[in-house]
Amino acid sequence: MIVLDFDGTVTQKDIGDEVCDRFAPPAWRDIDAAWVRSEISLPDAQRQMWALARAERPEALDYARQIGHLRPGLDGLIGAAAARGTPMWLASGGFDFYIEALLGDRLSVFERAYFNRTRFVDGRIEVDFPHAELSCGSCAVCKGKVCDAAREAGGEVVFIGDGASDRCAIGRADRIFAVRGSLLERACAERGQACKSFDSFDEVTAALA
Ligand SMILES: [Mg+2]
Ligand SMILES: [Zn+2]
Repeated sequence: MIVLDFDGTVTQKDIGDEVCDRFAPPAWRDIDAAWVRSEISLPDAQRQMWALARAERPEALDYARQIGHLRPGLDGLIGAAAARGTPMWLASGGFDFYIEALLGDRLSVFERAYFNRTRFVDGRIEVDFPHAELSCGSCAVCKGKVCDAAREAGGEVVFIGDGASDRCAIGRADRIFAVRGSLLERACAERGQACKSFDSFDEVTAALA
């Protein structure tokens, strides 16, 4: 089983952060920093951050497409997983509008895809967290809980991620791949969790072969 994060992993940038940066005043960064320091939960941070943003859906989507470069090697990883019959799950604390736009048809390769919802209402962006069964004290889509569910469903769990919410996967996945230089890579080192660093998904595909 492969459990894959989206922002900063499938994409090279964190799209949610970039969209907030473009459409919200700089105070969103203070809220994000409080979440990274574990002072508030991610959904609470996201509710506050996205409440600051002002955008209509088309302009938010345009911007996401403009900056949403996919990490090299993604299609190779998807193809190799399909060839081996390895199910892939997407587990993202991010949001539907840009995940669906950036993955397009690729979304259908994921046996399960967990992410949060947005509603654009008169230039404001309302966020909704539909996966209550996957929430922990700090995340709305807990990567640790998704890894637990993947283990129950399949077997060996490979988690691939980069960020603060991916810390919940530490100790809950059999193998972890972390984007080189990422917060997850540092968290694994601090907590004695073996992890393999990567820049391109080609490195992940080769390590799993
Ligand atoms: Mg991420
Ligand atoms: Zn969690």
